[in-house]
Amino acid sequence: MTVPDTAEIMAWIETITARGIRRPGYPADAWTERWAAGLLADFGLDVRLAPVEVPTWHPVAATLRAHLDADPSRAVEVEAFALPYTTPKATVTAPLTRSAAPGRIAVREHTFAELPQALVREIATAVHDPDGDFDGLVQTLPFAPGYLEDLDGAVTSGAAGYVGALTGIPWETRDYYVPYDAVRRSVPAVWLSAADSRRVLALMDEGPCAGTLSVESETATATSHNVIATLPGRGDGWVIVASHHDAPWASAVEDASGVALVLAAARHWSRVPEEDRPHNLLFLLTAGHMAHAAGTRAFIEENRALLDRVVLQVHLEHAARECRAEGGRLVPTGAPEPRWWFTTRRPELERLVERALVAEDLRRSFVLPPDVFSPMPPTDGAFFHPEGVPLVHFLAAPMYLFDSADTLDKVDEASLVPLTRAAIRIVEGTEGWSPR
Ligand SMILES: [Zn+2]
Repeated sequence: MTVPDTAEIMAWIETITARGIRRPGYPADAWTERWAAGLLADFGLDVRLAPVEVPTWHPVAATLRAHLDADPSRAVEVEAFALPYTTPKATVTAPLTRSAAPGRIAVREHTFAELPQALVREIATAVHDPDGDFDGLVQTLPFAPGYLEDLDGAVTSGAAGYVGALTGIPWETRDYYVPYDAVRRSVPAVWLSAADSRRVLALMDEGPCAGTLSVESETATATSHNVIATLPGRGDGWVIVASHHDAPWASAVEDASGVALVLAAARHWSRVPEEDRPHNLLFLLTAGHMAHAAGTRAFIEENRALLDRVVLQVHLEHAARECRAEGGRLVPTGAPEPRWWFTTRRPELERLVERALVAEDLRRSFVLPPDVFSPMPPTDGAFFHPEGVPLVHFLAAPMYLFDSADTLDKVDEASLVPLTRAAIRIVEGTEGWSPR
């Protein structure tokens, strides 16, 4: 294999994150599209940019001020972070309550899910864990169970506002870029950090309180692009290798790391003679993952005729370091975050993935059915699954995935080359396979 070394792959991740926040339609995201397209063209691939309309979301400011009804001088004012695609501009004053009710501002506590790895092991079709880490490891996921139903319940009940109090999150942050389904919800809604939440809740515990919730964000639509690059190979089948180029923040792991892994694989295959490529290869960097996977959905709609000829669709997301929270901050442990390899339930494909991750010693890996956690895998490429396209989706879900704390120090550098090589092995292993 002719795989770029760790420093080169890491330099690509640094180049991407240096441009700033890459939300759908942001200048840094548009820059990343053009930069990646240029690099793929330099490798000798045939490259095009396919337009994708995306709704944009630009938070400007958000605050919550709470005061005790019995003594308005007893007040707390905190910075907040607006939930994407909720009411963009409003100032509402209303009673604060712990449950959603018409005309009230609901203050609702949330925590992240804790997932014992021994449980995941029971539902996995294969495991590579030579150190036995999964025996006692409990992973904190970046998902707050039930929050979306809770938020929608507040909208339905006619709540005046919604405050997501992140009291159960193990480090101090309000930068939780969730939800990302791009559904416009008619309620002013914000996240508060754990310490700020506790200050507000402590005041509410003293007696009836009123709050003034103020949000300001800008919404619009923009034209983003899927980056599509192809290399011809043998036969008329196709392998698609993909990730997404947008992000919640300047995010290094999510998914500058995925873009870099796709670029690394593309450079390898560009140096393999056409007659030695097992199938035609398509490298895809999608737009609008943070807007309900707009790029993946657009690609599927525009390339339906291709789907029947896809031998395998690979997604590469998140070369992530595990972190622990210490003193309100995140500290990398030096270990990789557990790796999920969502793999279509075909024995020969499951064995191929297992062989590749054992060969590259990608420890802390699970091979999982695509629908093990939800009807679709929680990946940017999710929408390929209901289309019946055979897939291997690599994904890690560190607790900082949607947070501004996703910086370069969170990238698991030691995994970059092994992940690239594993992806190449998986593509090589499909030699002689037919589509579907
Ligand atoms: Zn991602």
